[in-house]
Amino acid sequence: MSRIVYVNGTYLPEAEATVSVFDRGFLMADGVYEVTSVLDGKLIDFDGHAARLTRSLAELDMTPPMARDELLAVHRELVARNAITDGMIYLQITRGNPGDRSFTFPDPETTPCTVVMFTQSKPGLADDPAAKAGIRVISIPDQRWGRRDIKTVQLLYPSMGKMAALAAGVDDAWFVEDGKVTEGTSNNAYIVKNRKIITRELSSDILHGITRAAVLRFAAEAQMEVEERSFTIDEAKGADEAFITSASAFVTPVVEVDGAAVGDGKPGQVATRLREIYLEESRKAAI
Ligand code: PLP
Repeated sequence: MSRIVYVNGTYLPEAEATVSVFDRGFLMADGVYEVTSVLDGKLIDFDGHAARLTRSLAELDMTPPMARDELLAVHRELVARNAITDGMIYLQITRGNPGDRSFTFPDPETTPCTVVMFTQSKPGLADDPAAKAGIRVISIPDQRWGRRDIKTVQLLYPSMGKMAALAAGVDDAWFVEDGKVTEGTSNNAYIVKNRKIITRELSSDILHGITRAAVLRFAAEAQMEVEERSFTIDEAKGADEAFITSASAFVTPVVEVDGAAVGDGKPGQVATRLREIYLEESRKAAI
């Protein structure tokens, strides 16, 4: 089925949804994005994603093209027009089309941002078999830029990481910098040792995951112990459990790191419980 896509204020069939070859998103990866999950036709963590979008735009001196309520309305319109029950809404905002290629930022008065949003239907998103089986990861050097806290569309290196993982016969890669895990190609990384949840502290080294924030909040509410600090691959191999979080994977157990089984090589209790809590609470709060 052809999707209805949002482009700069207009809803179009996907085949008619285009942007200029001069768009700075295309030429310079000069843009930011968000991915918001939809469960039962409702948006999960919408306000968290909207807030992070505002921050990403501000960090890049881009003017938000629409306020939170309009953004919400477009998200809901796309869910309705595409009859999405479970899936994702992808949103991308670039610095627009200045009509030529130049390294300098164009004047936002004359070059408005390009805003594109589209849906990805994923029936049964919350029942992904990976959540039951757990995923296997390899480690690779983190060769991304230094502002990973900004959710930019520069995803070449994460893409290469994902391809390296698939070539190695596993599911994903964890990035390592200065001997410590930063995060996964498109998710935040965690280990569990003696029931304590350990995940890297927030800084410009990692994306400030919206799912991470919610999961740590739910963990604290459930009296689970959390320590925000970096950890090594050896520590992960010796952990009782490991898992990842992201808007589309929710909480997904990691059962193998660089060929070594984590714990007993099966999804752990903490990750499994956190996934349950996250899905239950997020569905309740979905809008
Ligand atoms: N880290 C990276 C590098 C990501 O790309 C993502 C999601 O795309 C995440 C973490 C998880 O963030 P969120 O929970 O907001 O989806």
